[in-house]
Amino acid sequence: MTLSLPQHYRQILIGLGEDPTREGLQDTPARAAKAMQYLCHGYGQSLEDIVNGALFASDSDEMVIVADIELYSLCEHHLLPFIGKAHVAYIPTGKVLGLSKIARIVDMYARRLQIQENLTRQIADAVQQVTQAAGVAVVIEAKHMCMMMRGVEKQNSTMNTSVMLGAFRESSNTRQEFLQLIGRSK
Ligand SMILES: [Zn+2]
Repeated sequence: MTLSLPQHYRQILIGLGEDPTREGLQDTPARAAKAMQYLCHGYGQSLEDIVNGALFASDSDEMVIVADIELYSLCEHHLLPFIGKAHVAYIPTGKVLGLSKIARIVDMYARRLQIQENLTRQIADAVQQVTQAAGVAVVIEAKHMCMMMRGVEKQNSTMNTSVMLGAFRESSNTRQEFLQLIGRSK
């Protein structure tokens, strides 16, 4: 017999030594299951659905940057949140993507169980795949609750990851311009 998600949460409460019948916890399994499903709703989305034709012809070959995209994800090792910002840039070659779509691509991958390195890579690959850009850059800076609330309790450490594709990898000028524009260069 397979248990439903709320039934699993009930078992977790029991496993933690709690009494799932006490007043404050009666609806917790159902609420926790619903919250977790929401935090993982990226599994139900695809790149095609997200982009949904919002690609527009453009002659511009200037860097497009979407900075400071709020990011909420769950680490796949501890199921604890990591929270931060994503900065995404690409250099178009005839096609530009509707601006809100970049944020939605970030969200689709963030709303799955992740490690920050893979999340960064998946966002870069997706933007590259959709736009066929001459280059794509993604930087993520995030704080991990699994580091802050347990173990080493390094409460102020931010983890930075980046993936540079195409022109951002090949040209240090292009890379520097991007890092400068997101305020991350010295
Ligand atoms: Zn973790």
